[in-house]
Amino acid sequence: MIAQGEVWLVGAGPGDPDLLTRKAEKLIRSASVVFYDALVGAGVLDLVPASTRMVSVGKRAGRHSKDQRTIDALLVEAALAGERAVRLKGGDPSIFGRSQEELAACRAAGVPVHICPGVTAASAAVASLGSSLTLRGLARRVTFVTAHLRKGSPPDLDWQALADPQASIAVYMGKQAAAAVSSGLMTAGLAGETPVAMVENASLPSERLFRTRLDLLPIAARTALGDGPALLLIGEAVRHGPLPRTAERSATVTQGKPISLAL
Ligand code: SAH
Repeated sequence: MIAQGEVWLVGAGPGDPDLLTRKAEKLIRSASVVFYDALVGAGVLDLVPASTRMVSVGKRAGRHSKDQRTIDALLVEAALAGERAVRLKGGDPSIFGRSQEELAACRAAGVPVHICPGVTAASAAVASLGSSLTLRGLARRVTFVTAHLRKGSPPDLDWQALADPQASIAVYMGKQAAAAVSSGLMTAGLAGETPVAMVENASLPSERLFRTRLDLLPIAARTALGDGPALLLIGEAVRHGPLPRTAERSATVTQGKPISLAL
């Protein structure tokens, strides 16, 4: 499926291998080398044939094992050497995936490069909550933001523009910045009772779901979330929904913790 000497940026989805697209699976199976990062699910990596060379370029916030330029260079080098290179990225490559650097590096080197989309974490998280990112009349738009703290300083976001009670906000990389997100949005006028869901390890067996409110988000994030990737979903869209299938596990995990988790 992949020609000699090209690169595919492939969305690996949120972790559950059943959420891979069929195209992604075909690309994984026909690659000669697979570059993957830390967010790619173990079940997805299991689909890579044993004979395929695998290169970890593992990135998690604050724990970069290879910098972006090195990754760009590795992809270009592989393709120029005639490899069928797949660059697996968690979720969808186009959402906080640094794909533009890799696309630009390939294009500058004359290497053919293509993209296979994937299921982004926000879609997986809201599916697990049994809800919807948009709701007629209640949530008219969805904003994907990243609240990654750069060198510990608060995220530089336009809180005024974000604080729309009729929007759903999906905060990627927001765990450390939960307090800044909460105060930024409330100062800009969003109500403290605004519903918030925190979804850790969405789509994986270790998934955990929590419901809280904007004013309680700092303590909720600090006490409830573990080490896994977590998404914050803010807005009316996450108020409702049936009890999620992991409710029991989540309730147990949070027992005795001083947060209001109306699961
Ligand atoms: N391209 C990815 C996002 C990369 S940024 C996508 O489309 O999903 C990394 C952030 O994504 C993590 O810090 C976390 O906020 C979120 N994320 C990725 N996988 C996740 C998962 N399985 N569950 C919850 N959040 C996840």
